[in-house]
Amino acid sequence: MTHDPVVAEATRERDSLEARFVLADQEAHAAEVLDRYRGSSGKRPNVVFILFDDVGWGDFGCYGGGVAVGAPTPNIDRLARRGKLLTSCYSEPSCTPSRASLMTGRLPMRHGLLRPPMYGQPGGLAGELTLAQLLSDAGYATQAVGKWHMGENTESQPQNAGFDDFYGFLSVSDMYTEWRDPNFFPEIVYSEERTRWIENLPFNKCFVHASRGGEIENVEEVTVPVLSLLDDKWADYSLGFIRRMAPQPGEERTPWFLYHCTRGAHFDNYPHQRFLGSSPAKHPYKDTIVELDDIVGRLVTALEVTGQMEDTVVFVSSDNGPEMETWPDAAYSPFRCAKGSTWEGGQRVPGIVTWPGMIEADEATDGIVSLMDLFNTVLHLADAGDRVPVDRYVDGVDQTSFLLTPDGLSNRKYLYYWLTNVFSALRVGEWKFMVASTSDDDRDCLNLGGFTGVTQKYSHGRLYNLYLDPKESRSYMIRKLAYIDAFTSGIRDHLMSFGPYPPKQPIASMS
Ligand code: CA
Repeated sequence: MTHDPVVAEATRERDSLEARFVLADQEAHAAEVLDRYRGSSGKRPNVVFILFDDVGWGDFGCYGGGVAVGAPTPNIDRLARRGKLLTSCYSEPSCTPSRASLMTGRLPMRHGLLRPPMYGQPGGLAGELTLAQLLSDAGYATQAVGKWHMGENTESQPQNAGFDDFYGFLSVSDMYTEWRDPNFFPEIVYSEERTRWIENLPFNKCFVHASRGGEIENVEEVTVPVLSLLDDKWADYSLGFIRRMAPQPGEERTPWFLYHCTRGAHFDNYPHQRFLGSSPAKHPYKDTIVELDDIVGRLVTALEVTGQMEDTVVFVSSDNGPEMETWPDAAYSPFRCAKGSTWEGGQRVPGIVTWPGMIEADEATDGIVSLMDLFNTVLHLADAGDRVPVDRYVDGVDQTSFLLTPDGLSNRKYLYYWLTNVFSALRVGEWKFMVASTSDDDRDCLNLGGFTGVTQKYSHGRLYNLYLDPKESRSYMIRKLAYIDAFTSGIRDHLMSFGPYPPKQPIASMS
């Protein structure tokens, strides 16, 4: 098949939907295998998202990490061999924007969660339509477990955003513990007044449970010892859900969506006692990676044992690149810079997707995928493609045909990078054209993170060839002017989409 993403035209189905490549042979193949799966009963697959926190592109063995960086990941590597391993899978630069984009299929500039709400700050998913809600409307059982972090206000809480049930915490790991740990906050821990002051801040210090439409119930206050048990407890909760959802003989099957978000490996890491010193690196971050790998193994085994693996799409990813401002409690990425930035290190994340018998095994692919694409793709797989909203702009593209075709090609032409409310860059094929980014300091690819740098705009833009120069160290623009029009027209069309669909900014940029 001849198809060059730089040259080929993407098709825009409607003004409010990101254009996508429609590759006739691939679309026909996907439709055929999906029809065969659905059969006369209209069977629909279950969906599991396992979303890690701040885990890097390079942490797993199947991405060149694993034993090489002191934390073997045999379960994740084994899972990757059963499906597609995505090498150009993109999140947004930090937790909340990524999670809300995945859940709404929309860029942060559209859903308004441009950065994480902290310590009870308002803002969240109000007015948004979530993947969970749309799947629920289509008859799916929906379960969220673990980290939420898309707003703590009532309407943003998971049980009011499409999930039947939620067991986890509403915010982010460090907020529960850092002020309790004398290693990080001695000036608070050893001061009664300051401790009381933090305790009185209006954020919930507990992990919680909630059922659809109900109130949040506190389960337990998240102290440091409690935090070390969370990933284990949450895994048990998801295992219970998987077992409960397995159909009994003669029973009609209800398709389900499990959104399992781990606590690890966000700083500060306190692995479960069982995993202390379990990695060759003997470091809390690496021990946590070993623990997370074990959890993936447990979840996959439960799918196998209950006979649901062939009816389940499993997706494993991370919500942003490594947090390097907390090194060495930090992930590994071979790319430039880190979380908070629009350099590749900030946004390129692992992406493993399996569906035995439906998605070709043992295939690595560099097709561009945004986590937002899962919104449209999962709805299509769930036979609910007509539920993609038409009254608002959707930035995700349907990647069903890419996933279901052996050696398939990505349906996405452009990847847009946003540095909170500043347009930063566009990728197409191997090229990345950057008009703004964080600090130009060479050290940022080693240690300093994206949040630390200053935002800078370039007078003429910079062009990086991500195949020749994955660390984005040398602008190639002056030799490649032939491409410039393709990039600038891609950017212009993208920015013009904000005319009829204006940005929403309830949580403003930190800058
Ligand atoms: Ca994160």
